[in-house]
Amino acid sequence: MIKGIHNLKNKPAGQISKRSLSGVWNNIARVPIELQKMGISIDDVFVKKDWSLSTIDIARSLVVQIIQRWEILCEYDETCDCWSYAQPSDHFIEWIHEVPIKILCFVWRAHLSRIPSAYALISRGVALCSSVCSFCSCGIEDAYHILLTCPFAKEVWEWTFRWCNIDIPLGNSVADFIVSVGNWIGSPIQKKDLITICYGTLWLIWKTRCDRIFKQLRISPILVADNVTSLSFTWIKHRRSQCQYKWVDWCVCPNLGR
Ligand SMILES: [Zn+2]
Repeated sequence: MIKGIHNLKNKPAGQISKRSLSGVWNNIARVPIELQKMGISIDDVFVKKDWSLSTIDIARSLVVQIIQRWEILCEYDETCDCWSYAQPSDHFIEWIHEVPIKILCFVWRAHLSRIPSAYALISRGVALCSSVCSFCSCGIEDAYHILLTCPFAKEVWEWTFRWCNIDIPLGNSVADFIVSVGNWIGSPIQKKDLITICYGTLWLIWKTRCDRIFKQLRISPILVADNVTSLSFTWIKHRRSQCQYKWVDWCVCPNLGR
């Protein structure tokens, strides 16, 4: 796919993107150089697959999978003083147009437990006083606790699911939850609406938490849920073509068919 887009048929096998391009494509082009610095062969990391692509959405999703694979493969394991070569996760983020790319990247990092929680920072050698959640003081502050099981987050989810008139199991990890959202049964549009709402909720819980810690701003769970309503409506209304949704109807219930 990369070769097709970048016309790299006659280039060396290790060349996976044009360096002259900007954005994510340029990041991909730098991957072999970064790997070389770490003493890792590009052939050990990228595996040729039989990819038959037809839409740009699938292409974007694959780019993320490539980056994700690279990131996981390059993780340094201090206990054995070597680079970890773990397999990529089977859980994939739903790469939908309605959700801004910044939020999709956040959800992707959260599902890999790669957001800067106290637990993640301490495990990477950052000196913090405690890994206990500063909101509730009753759990280790990791991605799962922050976004799903902290009492503050739980209350936001309760309000959000009550508004949607559905119930999605929170699972045992962020990845579990994202899979549950992706497996929810509904029409394609309803499914996109639900994903937009859930990804927006994850983002707003994280943002609210950061605002409280770094700006001393206190926002109640019900106000966060209200912000989910307006943020998800704004994204869908302005990013989906010919969207007929009305704000008054959306406020009552997003009509997910339950
Ligand atoms: Zn907590």
